Amino acid sequence: MRYLGREVEVEGIVRLVMESGLSARDRVGVQDFLLLDNYTSEAAFIENLRRRYKENLIYTYIGSVLVSVNPYRELEIYSKQHMERYRGVNFYEISPHIYALADNSYRAVRTERKDQCILISGESGAGKTEASKKVLQYYTTMCPTRNNTQSIRERLLQSTPVLEAFGNAKTLRNDNSSRFGKYMDVQFDYKGAPIGGHILNYLLEKSRVVHQNHGERNFHIFYQLLESGDGALLKRLGLDRTNPQQYHYLVKGNCPRVSSISDKNSWKVVSKAFTVIGFNEEEVEELLKVVASVLHLGNTQFGEDEYGETHLTTEMPIKYVSEDEVYYTSKCSSVIGLLDIYGFEVFQNNSFEQFCINYCNEKLQQLFIELTLKSEQEEYEAEGIGWETVEYFNNKIICDLVEEKFKGIIAILDEECLRPGDACDLTFLEKLEDRLGGHAHFVTHKLANGKIRKAVGREEFRLLHYAGEVNYNINGFLDKNNDLLYRNLKEVMCQSSNQIMKECFQTDELTDQRRPETAATQFKLSLAKLMDILMSKQPSYIRCIKPNDAKQPGRFEEVLVRHQVKYLGLMENLRVRRAGFAYRRSFEAFLQRYKPLCPDTWPNWQGKLSDGVSTLVKHLDYKAEEYKLGRSKIFIRFPKTLFLTEDALEL
Ligand code: ATP
Ligand code: MG
Repeated sequence: MRYLGREVEVEGIVRLVMESGLSARDRVGVQDFLLLDNYTSEAAFIENLRRRYKENLIYTYIGSVLVSVNPYRELEIYSKQHMERYRGVNFYEISPHIYALADNSYRAVRTERKDQCILISGESGAGKTEASKKVLQYYTTMCPTRNNTQSIRERLLQSTPVLEAFGNAKTLRNDNSSRFGKYMDVQFDYKGAPIGGHILNYLLEKSRVVHQNHGERNFHIFYQLLESGDGALLKRLGLDRTNPQQYHYLVKGNCPRVSSISDKNSWKVVSKAFTVIGFNEEEVEELLKVVASVLHLGNTQFGEDEYGETHLTTEMPIKYVSEDEVYYTSKCSSVIGLLDIYGFEVFQNNSFEQFCINYCNEKLQQLFIELTLKSEQEEYEAEGIGWETVEYFNNKIICDLVEEKFKGIIAILDEECLRPGDACDLTFLEKLEDRLGGHAHFVTHKLANGKIRKAVGREEFRLLHYAGEVNYNINGFLDKNNDLLYRNLKEVMCQSSNQIMKECFQTDELTDQRRPETAATQFKLSLAKLMDILMSKQPSYIRCIKPNDAKQPGRFEEVLVRHQVKYLGLMENLRVRRAGFAYRRSFEAFLQRYKPLCPDTWPNWQGKLSDGVSTLVKHLDYKAEEYKLGRSKIFIRFPKTLFLTEDALEL
């Protein structure tokens, strides 16, 4: 980027002096929050984000964490040339970008053969899915291919429109909101060519099929099929496009069209994607039959006959099918996993869904702590620097509160779901109070002294999450956790001749007498698996922020951003990262940059690199508590030390 005629992207931190006399640092902030002087101040953090956002600098680091603020406009920063500029460049040498993070992970896979994962979080509309697409595009554009991998590259890319057609919908917050969490492995061969992928889905919002809030829609695929499906196909499916309003499942939200979405174009894209991914015509039609039968089922009428008995006027077996596993190749050498998953949710009314989502975020924070501290520790050890105690809040206590065997909230919920008799949401709450009343992170309306806590309703419990407090309303917890399909419904499904149905409903499940796992336990188990997958990899993080609710460019609403900074746990991220040293750099890079500041190292230092750095910092009068020399790197504790050195270069 050109900035007042001069290149802003100087290695490390921006050090230009602007014509106004303001340094670029004052004007566009620091590109890494670790370099904030006052790193515990939330106000300073937000001000830094705001300054950068104003200059269209939507990316900022917290060490290796990338913070991204949704620009709500197309920025000219995603071209092939941009991708090329970030290839092979060190993280800190050039302005922050999602390509830098993507490239960094890729290089680690290539050179160190270590599996990587990129964890993307943020609230609805913050830009998670766009971020994951950009990472995928980077790999499919920049990684080498061999003759036979071209099609795999295409298939990787084309999985997105298919998943979005079935799993995304227009909501009040986002016209293309993902209603499921997604983990995708991109697999690379030993030459670094992408050779396959594997997708796992989490917590699809199934209830949307039958109900949409005002101003929201059902999943995109219904509208796409109805608007643009071939006439003969629609006829075979028994659908009539002349009057889409007749389908009850499409009219609940009173929002048939969305100005930012073309169902026609999307249908073309999805149809092509099916072919690229490898579905044949019959398979696509089987799938669309399922989609169509949902619409028919939605129109099922119940009528009473003259004896007062209920009868169906139409009937068609159906279950919503989720795209679970798209493809899998086994010859892979290393993997980069991409996780696009809901961030903390705090609404006016929080229910079972928010409980699950926020539990998931606690687990991810736990993973962040373990992996960050682990990698810090490993680096200190490798560099021969003594371990430093790190001050941070370990949220394991909250994870345990939710998931501990026999004792945790999920165990108590399951117990109530299985208990015959008078079990209901309120008895569940009573049990929670009974057993968890004394827990430091669990609160109900009852205070220990017998008085009432007004901030928590009588049908609520409050969890003190690592990112803040959330009240959960217990109504519906038991039903949602049971998530039962009636046996006779399953029996009907098992008889279906539709191939997809057959895969979803297998007869051996009918003979299995065990009770299926509850929804919360299923989620807990799938999260545990996900944690295992992620734990074996080196993580990078993308934290996405939505700057305003109006989906408009250029608007930075401070209150909204502050809320997200809090619930994304960014200050906590920063604290964990800053617990050790704010800045580290190889001897070589450090010397190269600052050698002009010392006559003994300028123009060229002939001796050992570590001696050169030692000579340089002595000359600069660094105090012992300000830095440490490892085996190959210098560690600097405070940003100020570095800024003074940077400023000295200006003189
Ligand atoms: P949800 O949780 O609802 O799925 P999300 O975090 O995945 O939300 P996205 O769908 O990625 O949000 O982004 C919402 C919209 O914001 C996009 O459709 C796009 O218009 C805009 N947007 C996000 N990121 C960018 C970007 N980097 N550049 C331009 N526009 C963007
Ligand atoms: Mg999304």
